[in-house]
Formats: sequence, C-alpha cells, structure tokens
Amino acid sequence: MQICRSIESIKSLRENLDGTIGFIPTMGALHDGHLSLVTASKKSCGYTIVSIFVNPMQFNSRNDLISYPRLQEKDMEMLKKLAVDSVFIPSHKHIYPEGFSTEVDEKSLSGGLEGRSRPGHFTGVATVLAKFFNIIQPTHAFFGEKDAQQLRVVKQMVHDLNFNLDIISCPTVREKSGLALSSRNENLSTASREKAAVIYNGLKLGENALENGERYPKKIKEIIYLNIIKEPLAEIIYISVADSESLEEVEGRIEKDILVSLAVNFDGARLIDNFTYSLSGT
Ligand code: AMP
Repeated sequence: MQICRSIESIKSLRENLDGTIGFIPTMGALHDGHLSLVTASKKSCGYTIVSIFVNPMQFNSRNDLISYPRLQEKDMEMLKKLAVDSVFIPSHKHIYPEGFSTEVDEKSLSGGLEGRSRPGHFTGVATVLAKFFNIIQPTHAFFGEKDAQQLRVVKQMVHDLNFNLDIISCPTVREKSGLALSSRNENLSTASREKAAVIYNGLKLGENALENGERYPKKIKEIIYLNIIKEPLAEIIYISVADSESLEEVEGRIEKDILVSLAVNFDGARLIDNFTYSLSGT
C-alpha cells in the first residue's frame, strides 16, 4: 500500500496509472461503512485510492473539530487488510496553503437540513472535494447514503463544474441495533451506543407510518420525535421531511418521493441518519 503525504507524491503516482481509478474520500476513524465503499471500489475499479483528511473548512464548531476522532494507525491496518492500493494523507497546510482564497459554493441543495444546522459546512465539503478530484483525477468516487445531502451536493457539483468522473452511492451500513455506523460513535460509551439505537427505531416508526398511509410531514416528524426524546441522552437538532429531488422541506401533504433525515446530539456526539421513501407504486 502506497502512502502519499503530499500533493506532489499522489500526482506523480497518478501520472503512471491508467484504467479505472476509484476514490474514497474520508475523515478517518474508519469503520465498516467506509470499508463498504472501499469494497465497492475494489469490485468495479482497477485501482483504489482512499484519502484521510479531517477537513477544518467543513467544521463550523472548533470543539467539534478538536473532538473529531483520529485513529490513523488503526485506519492504516484496516486499509492494508483490504489491500487498498494507495492512501492520500495530506496535511492541512498542503490543502490550504497561506493565501488560499477560493471556495466552491453549491447554492441550491446546500441550504436546508445539514446546511442550515451547520452554516458553511457544504462549502467546506465541496471545496475540498473539488481539490481532491483535481489532484487525484479519479474515474469513480464512492459516497455513503448516510450523508444523503452530501451525496446530492457532490453530484450537483460534479455535474455543474464538468468533473470527469462518476459518483457512486453506497447504502448505509448499520450496527445490529440499527444505529448507523459513524466515526463519531467512537466518542460514545458502549452503553450510550446501545441507547443510540433509538434514533434508528424512531426513523423506522416514521417509515412504518408512511407505509400505513400517513401523508403529513408534521405527523411523521412527531412520531419520530416522540420516540427519540424518550431517551434522555438524545437532544434533537432537527427532523426533516424534504422533497428528495430539491431537498426543500415538504409542508403540506406528501405527494412526491421524500428524504426523511435528522440530526441528533446524542451524549455529546452529533449523529445523523435518514431514509428515503418512494411514493411510486403506492
Ligand atoms: P466521513 O469519514 O464521515 O467523511 O465519511 C466518508 C464517507 O463514508 C462518506 O461518503 C460517508 O457517507 C461514508 N459513510 C460514513 N458512514 C457510513 C455508513 N454507516 N455507511 C455507509 N457509508 C458511510
């Protein structure tokens, strides 16, 4: 496994590659969710590159940035086991050198949900990914559905800015309890992690209500809310029922496919999860 710590080294490695190149951008503290993206890349691409970079530009809280888990040695072991071809671990000063003054700002899909709750977050995400796509020039990049809005914003950016690559989405990997795997789960005790399953259970109840014909966002949100707040460690940041195309909040009766998503502060960890619900065929 090649480890590249500078832009020059990953660029010169890239110059000697041809064929399909799969890229998985991550912030490290890897888990089976990340590894599912690696496996998808290895299945469909001839060469797989993973990046590990805790991107300061996408954090709008200094405490959140500082407390984000960093487990580089363990990450390397996991990536070696999966026979990843190369890992890109740039330093902050390589990515944002002095005088850096350009931002990529998606203006339509970024405003609600996570974007509203974390102002500037998607500008940070889009800017760093635009840089990584330019540096690495992958043919494919793999993203998890757990970050549903991120996936949509990245697809839009790739389309709008004519990046020459395919964005591949992969399903959310969960613990047995249903809790979505997340690097931030590292900051939870075993007991809290078990209790955090209440988030998934809440979403499931919302989904069941939709399956049983409920069509009003207010009611869906209430069902999810009431289930999650039973757990004293849970502080709900938002629950959203949005049009799955525009990501605009649905106010009246649900008539189109929706993305139901939420963010919860759980025992100090900011956790997100979602599901999509399709009305076609109902
Ligand atoms: P992160 O390291 O949190 O920036 O995530 C890197 C990539 O892994 C993103 O595309 C995430 O959507 C994806 N990812 C994170 N958690 C999961 C999960 N539980 N299942 C599938 N993909 C995930």
